[in-house]
Amino acid sequence: MNSQVDILVIGSGIAGLTFALKAARHGSVLLVTKKARAETNTNYARGGLAAVLGDDDEMRLHVADTLEAGAGLCHLGVVETVVAEGPVRVRELMSWGTTFDRDQGGRLALGREGGHSRRRIVHAGDRTGHAIEHALLAAVEAEPAITVLEDHLAVDLLLSEDPSTRRPACRGILALDHRLGRLIVFRSRAVFLASGGCGQVYRHTTNPAIATGDGTAMAYRAGAVIANMEFMQFHPTALHPTEDPAFLISEAVRGEGAIIVRRDGTSFMERYHPRASLAPRDVVARAIDQEMRSSGDTHVLLDVSSIPRDTFRTRFPGAAEGLTERGVDAWADGIPVVPAAHYSCGGVRTDLHGRTSVPGLYAAGEVACTGLHGANRLASNSLLEAVVLSHRAAEAIAAFLPAPKAAGGEEWLPGGADPASLDGRDAGTDTPSPDLAHERKRVRDLMWDRVGIVRSDALLESAESELSNLAAAHERRWREDLWTPDLVELRSLLHTAELVVACARSRVESRGLHYTLDHPHRNNESFLRDTHVTLAGVDLPFPLTPEDA
Ligand SMILES: Cc1cc2nc3c(=O)[nH]c(=O)nc-3n(C[C@H](O)[C@H](O)[C@H](O)COP(=O)(O)OP(=O)(O)OC[C@H]3O[C@@H](n4cnc5c(N)ncnc54)[C@H](O)[C@@H]3O)c2cc1C
Repeated sequence: MNSQVDILVIGSGIAGLTFALKAARHGSVLLVTKKARAETNTNYARGGLAAVLGDDDEMRLHVADTLEAGAGLCHLGVVETVVAEGPVRVRELMSWGTTFDRDQGGRLALGREGGHSRRRIVHAGDRTGHAIEHALLAAVEAEPAITVLEDHLAVDLLLSEDPSTRRPACRGILALDHRLGRLIVFRSRAVFLASGGCGQVYRHTTNPAIATGDGTAMAYRAGAVIANMEFMQFHPTALHPTEDPAFLISEAVRGEGAIIVRRDGTSFMERYHPRASLAPRDVVARAIDQEMRSSGDTHVLLDVSSIPRDTFRTRFPGAAEGLTERGVDAWADGIPVVPAAHYSCGGVRTDLHGRTSVPGLYAAGEVACTGLHGANRLASNSLLEAVVLSHRAAEAIAAFLPAPKAAGGEEWLPGGADPASLDGRDAGTDTPSPDLAHERKRVRDLMWDRVGIVRSDALLESAESELSNLAAAHERRWREDLWTPDLVELRSLLHTAELVVACARSRVESRGLHYTLDHPHRNNESFLRDTHVTLAGVDLPFPLTPEDA
């Protein structure tokens, strides 16, 4: 089956939905999403969105906090732009129906999180993402120029030569409709990648099952520059024992006074950072990892005794409910927590207009790497980045949309899907396969054990070689087997895991979220730069404009 639209969007989280609402002014928009439309990381976001809205706050302070967390790798121009454009995008979210909490005087209530020197987090209790996601879905529903297709899994991008630049340009996608088990070619004039993160690459993660890195893997196969994949953020406070996805206790709980202690009640964070339990996440996650290793404990505790029960219930209804359901009495016993993979700071390299290195392919949200987060994301800067960059990408696409091409006669280039080779290719529905589930577990376990919070040369090397064997075996299956969602996702997980390892191996120092025992210090002489990977294996300089630097 074939279909033609102006703009194709992959993903129905905050990036895809806000972009679609704007892009609909410029043409027909088809949004494909691989599960039910609300099944996104966005929907699970808890703490909120950071923006300079408080009387005691200033742009330069938010910029400084972001730069400090980013450990030297944030792009100053990007940080300044995203911070400056935050407040107007927050108001826009409200105009689309998101209700954020207010104080008794009717002003936006601002929360505080780790690494922030001021209160600046707009929130809806601790279910901020749910409030945003559902408001945006309602707004999209009311927009006739947007069509949403659920249960459509993007498999690969389509590439054909751009007649003016003679470079491969993105002209649509190949998707798998996994309710009906059929492949569909969607041609479009531009593709906006908003497919979110890749937490599922790790055994323990706060990310829901959709976060398998499909977008990064697809863009990589299409020749796009991928950056900084070594910087996977581990959230320090996932509930122990972890579920899949892990139940997250928001950082805002520490912002309201909770502290992290050992199981015997002794506090330790002050030994690691002057901001103690409110230190940047990489510091907190590593400190917990170290304390667990030295004590042999399976977890540490979040001590919430300084927060009155009623305040906790009102401010963190999601956490309160989740803890009660799981039989945890936080005031009697503390909350048992461990770190879990949470946020990918790296991804498809884009400029400040969401442009990737492949013409016609745009990206924003967690799949993208803009230079905002550097080596470590500041809490609540990701929802902010998604709304600012999606807005800017919609403006850029409006200017880019080329004249409609004459139908037919396209030559599809390698790196993307080849519609001509699909005849006779079987596709399957969403039926679980024990074999593929086993392989998936192998990837997730090896990433957790060897490419986790603390790394080493030997661990990374062995991860690389095992992943390469698994990828080769998968390549054979890919040629011969029925294409099912499990098979497609395993391919993404493998390719994304390989990208994380490739980036981690090429950063021979410790910085931000990348910590290796063999090179425990920062090396500003050699590594004060992003890690770039492309299919060709070369460290291509991405053509950034001065404002992106
Ligand atoms: C538990 C949790 C709490 C968080 N709390 C916060 C917070 O308080 N503040 C903050 O700033 N950030 C937070 N984050 C991070 C933030 O939620 C995400 O970075 C952000 O929501 C990503 O938005 P997105 O639109 O890029 O992707 P997502 O919201 O993840 O959406 C991705 C979409 O792409 C679709 N998709 C993926 N692959 C394909 C494919 N192959 N084909 C078709 N569709 C596909 C998915 O189905 C989904 O619809 C949190 C994350 C988690 C998991």
